[in-house]
Amino acid sequence: MTIYIIKDACVYSPDSLGKQDIAFTQNKILHIGNINETALSDANLPLEVIDGGSSIVTPGFVDPLVHITGGGGEGGFHTRTPQMQVSDAVKHGVTTLVAALGTDAITRSLEDVIAKAKSLKYYGLSSYIYSGNYHVPIKTITGDLTKDIMMIEEVIGVGEVAIADHRGSQVSCHELSRIASQARVAGMLSNKSGIVFIHVGSGKDKLDKLHEVINSSSIPITQFLPTHINRNQSLLKAGFEWVKKGGYIDFTASANDSFIDPDEIDAAEAVAKALDAGIDVNRISISSDGNASLPVFDKAGELIGLEVGSVSSLQHTLTKMISKFHIPMELALGCITSNPASMLKLTKGRLSADADADLLVMDESNFQIKHVFASGKHLLNNGRLNFQPNFE
Ligand code: ZN
Repeated sequence: MTIYIIKDACVYSPDSLGKQDIAFTQNKILHIGNINETALSDANLPLEVIDGGSSIVTPGFVDPLVHITGGGGEGGFHTRTPQMQVSDAVKHGVTTLVAALGTDAITRSLEDVIAKAKSLKYYGLSSYIYSGNYHVPIKTITGDLTKDIMMIEEVIGVGEVAIADHRGSQVSCHELSRIASQARVAGMLSNKSGIVFIHVGSGKDKLDKLHEVINSSSIPITQFLPTHINRNQSLLKAGFEWVKKGGYIDFTASANDSFIDPDEIDAAEAVAKALDAGIDVNRISISSDGNASLPVFDKAGELIGLEVGSVSSLQHTLTKMISKFHIPMELALGCITSNPASMLKLTKGRLSADADADLLVMDESNFQIKHVFASGKHLLNNGRLNFQPNFE
């Protein structure tokens, strides 16, 4: 076990804490402030000091949606996307992620997603999963959603349940209410969020189904986290209304320049628009949708293109939020750290004494990630992988 000290860095918790030293060891942050190395060296543990000058230190990124075992296949079996490599997440600063199945729950399984999540945990990444997939009745592991959330450590909720999408099950208000109440109770009993992560397609009914559920039941609006809200202008507008009602929304960072929907809004720009519209940005998270297929359909619903999402998109979006849209660092970082963590009830995404030692050291001039620590493991050292992932 090593004690690490990062000296003299600009620390964002994501709130700006100014120039500080930060000491941590396996899994836990010990102290943020002025640190006396000699006092710590008495602990009889090896000490490693990293010069944090001209660097910023932030929490590791929290990605609320990654298809870690791959997704897609909407263009046939040859278009199934590959699984995420652990090095992709590490190089781009993602230390916590939540995995989902997606469109295909026949050739892909939740058991496979759990196995992959466990493999990521082996390397130090904090990995969680959603039970279910696009369709209703939902696929589960134990045969019961409540049991999945309560009895399987990695399962924190259900998703992506698809609404307003021709690929979904055209779920009814009654069915969706039942799923949400099951997830909610299971979450309460096991101290998890029991979140219902909603895939919103490009259907003209947008968030209508969710409004119907919260208007006709006592399920709180925060039980849902609808994603892909930056898919088009009218959905973005509907998303802002949802936030004004007290809800959370999630933007998708992975986008494809050559196939981008003419109406699609880049995630960084969507956050800027939210700020302009006076929307509480702390109710917004950004997910990468990593390793999902990015299918493009024409007006008749025919597939005309396919690309793959990437976990790297969170880092790119952060850079864009700050450099292009001049969003304050604290707010920009919040969307990919503390906001998703609190929506999903994860004790992640914040730097403070006693918090988990998931943190990044970035160059303050260009936000290049120099060091990544996940669960106190030094996974990226001066921009280089500090471990050898199997089969990469
Ligand atoms: Zn989706």
